[in-house]
Amino acid sequence: MEDADQICRVYFSKPGLRIHQRPVVEAVLAGDNVIGVLATGGGKSLTYQVPYMLTRGITIVVSPLIALIDDQVNGLPTALKASTIILSGDNGMLSKSISTALENTGRCLIYTGPEKLSHFVGSQPFPGDVCRLVLDEAHCASEWGHTFRDAYLLLPNLWEQLGRPQIQAMTATASASTLNDLMAMFPVSFKVIRSSIYRSNLHLSAIEHQATEHRDNHLQMLVRNRVGPVIIYANSRSYVDRTSKWLCDIGLNVEGFHAGLTTSVRSDIQKRFIAGETEILVATIAFGMGIDKSDVRHVFHVEPPSTLEDYQQQVGRAGRDGGPSWCVVFDTMNKRRHRNDALRTGMKLAKDLDQDLFSYKLLLRKLEMERFLKFGGCRHNQLMTYSGESPSKRKCGHCDNCCGR
Ligand SMILES: [Zn+2]
Repeated sequence: MEDADQICRVYFSKPGLRIHQRPVVEAVLAGDNVIGVLATGGGKSLTYQVPYMLTRGITIVVSPLIALIDDQVNGLPTALKASTIILSGDNGMLSKSISTALENTGRCLIYTGPEKLSHFVGSQPFPGDVCRLVLDEAHCASEWGHTFRDAYLLLPNLWEQLGRPQIQAMTATASASTLNDLMAMFPVSFKVIRSSIYRSNLHLSAIEHQATEHRDNHLQMLVRNRVGPVIIYANSRSYVDRTSKWLCDIGLNVEGFHAGLTTSVRSDIQKRFIAGETEILVATIAFGMGIDKSDVRHVFHVEPPSTLEDYQQQVGRAGRDGGPSWCVVFDTMNKRRHRNDALRTGMKLAKDLDQDLFSYKLLLRKLEMERFLKFGGCRHNQLMTYSGESPSKRKCGHCDNCCGR
């Protein structure tokens, strides 16, 4: 691994691979097809950028969001930028750029979404040998990924057309069913490498209030006493608007973010939050993937997310710098009753039909979130168990249940 560490030092100004990155890079360089599960903030990008620098040929990185691609490419060291291409625009021009990069450096790093890759591969022969296909945020390729979209279903065919290159799928969230989905997509055997999802700097808690005004008072108190940037998640646009408005009305520095806003408005809001000009961001699930802001100190859920996977992704945005951070999910008694009634009815209906149905499986995942909310044991342990890990301690000491609060 001397070469990989040297690449880290010379090109990325890092002392070497981190402990969780090393086994992934080793397996990739050994030629294995790899599924890597690295906790958020674990440095997923480096696990394919370093092997890229040690391999000749083309590496394709399939990423779910253009914003994510832009951020990654902007952050690349100059030496990599020279051979990096974002697959966007005219296919003929792109082919030329890829060929030029291959002639000049012997390698080419291509970033793309699944739709554009399909369009490009369908229109002409690929201008060089593809040695590796990387799926970034690979849970999106699973039917359980929260941004699942049809173009991901094309990936197995595209992989065939590209000459069956090595596959490296990277994600921060992988429950057993997500892993099974990924493994079922390609007829190869995978080496699954996972680092623990346990984040000892996150304090997790869940609290149920009798009425929304009690919940809002509690949220207001926590936000006023914040020690750093805050993200407040809500499930709907109207809830984002409502929450950001009343927080703004009481004089707080807050903005709302959701998919109903135009791309440029969203991009500006995002930039202001990252720069620290906006202290509190109220957002739907549309905010967060690939956002590189390390000092978020609080993630509050004004209402529970629909699945534990979403919860895990969202609280994962707190404390990436390793500093202590607080994550609170709020619930109200009425809403919980309504949700549980709807879930019971849904389960009854689904059981009478086909239990393999997507909707039935989704209900089971929603039930898991409900279980988390009412759970009396260690919350970190529950998350770990759900992700297929065996917790080593009975109590973490930094969730509400372990601290007796
Ligand atoms: Zn605990």
